[in-house]
Amino acid sequence: MTEVIRAPKRIRRNVRSRQCRNLQVGFVPTMGAFHEGHRRLIRESVTDNDVTVVSLFVNPTQFDSDQEAESYPQDRERDLAIAREESVDVLFVPESDSIYPPGDCTRVEVDLPLTDRYEGAFRQRFFEGMVRVVTKLLNLVPAQRLYMGEKDLQQLVVVRQLIQDLHFPHRLVPVPVARDRKGVAYSSRNRRFAERDWQVAGRVCELLQELREVLQQQGDTDQLSSYRAEVQHTGMELDYLDLVSYPEFEPTDARDEKAVLILAGRIGDVRLKDNLPVHHASVREIESAIV
Ligand code: AMP
Repeated sequence: MTEVIRAPKRIRRNVRSRQCRNLQVGFVPTMGAFHEGHRRLIRESVTDNDVTVVSLFVNPTQFDSDQEAESYPQDRERDLAIAREESVDVLFVPESDSIYPPGDCTRVEVDLPLTDRYEGAFRQRFFEGMVRVVTKLLNLVPAQRLYMGEKDLQQLVVVRQLIQDLHFPHRLVPVPVARDRKGVAYSSRNRRFAERDWQVAGRVCELLQELREVLQQQGDTDQLSSYRAEVQHTGMELDYLDLVSYPEFEPTDARDEKAVLILAGRIGDVRLKDNLPVHHASVREIESAIV
């Protein structure tokens, strides 16, 4: 049975009372419009824990405009059906004004160099708003484990720092990118793709995969600029295509064991974001190799 909770006070009480009974709680924060990627996170949590809490909140403060926030895909009925199907124990669906009540003015800043780069450079309010809401959610859901997708890799690094610095109890579990048959990473925003956009997205993913193989063989980054041009040629308006070291997000070369290809851009009015570790199948694998 999936219990739906709307009030912040109730969610914390609910989690605490389960922990008092020695139950392990896993937490999956989301903005809804569930797809296979969300299911992957939920399944990991259900496997690892006694109780899984999923939050569904379209966070207004992380978008660059009200219009962008309002047009974010939403499908509450379907989300609830999926939560039930996946054996989610608690679905936390707060109202915006219970998360941001009138007078709310506390800001939390993660001052890493990477918050100004890549996503930080192209989405002005993203990290500030994301950190603000994640701080509130982690405080309301003090679970033992927190599940986040590797698809949003920069976000994952920032949240890891936040957990460490603010002494949150959560252990962050990165979940590898879930992709469709053409290799396109599932995303709530992809629902807006027209038929032609799917073809462009498929081609971009092929190019990313191809570039990964080139980098594995050649070890230098000479080919990056020609692949940038090829990606733009598909019709994608490219924000960045770079090779960085995980988790620092500093430019690197392909001999680096921790090298990850990162890419983002617009296809029509939909933003596509992706990444591919060069020498490992996932970031989780990089983490276990370097520890
Ligand atoms: P969102 O609802 O888009 O904010 O995503 C909620 C969580 O799901 C985040 O931790 C995302 O990184 C993760 N996620 C979204 N898409 C995917 C995907 N295709 N594969 C793995 N995780 C994903």
